Amino acid sequence: MRKELEDSLFERYDKILGQVDYREICIGDGWFVLIDTLCWGLQRMTDSGRSPQVRALQVKQKFGELCFYATGTDSLQAGMIHMASMISTRTCEECGAVGQRVEQEGFWRTLCPDHHQEWLKNFRA
Ligand SMILES: [Zn+2]
Repeated sequence: MRKELEDSLFERYDKILGQVDYREICIGDGWFVLIDTLCWGLQRMTDSGRSPQVRALQVKQKFGELCFYATGTDSLQAGMIHMASMISTRTCEECGAVGQRVEQEGFWRTLCPDHHQEWLKNFRA
């Protein structure tokens, strides 16, 4: 993720993301809105007194899916995280357009048709 996007997330959601390993969010820019919306929703639940404070430990992509490892979630917040992961498998990690999970030599990503082509080209290079 671009540094300025990453910085804006750490700035606005320090209570959630402050303890993430190496202060790194290892996903593409296309999932920025997804993470931003997830963190906003999670913190809103906490600030309204309805849910505990979620603390993310690691945010990354695995098998083309968003993995948001966190502690302190109640069942509603766990459901929100699960939903974000499901949406990630339909959202291009590069640009945020509609995408699908694709595989190349054992590596999985979720990409739109254009970024899938680009990925294949770079793979062969
Ligand atoms: Zn794309």
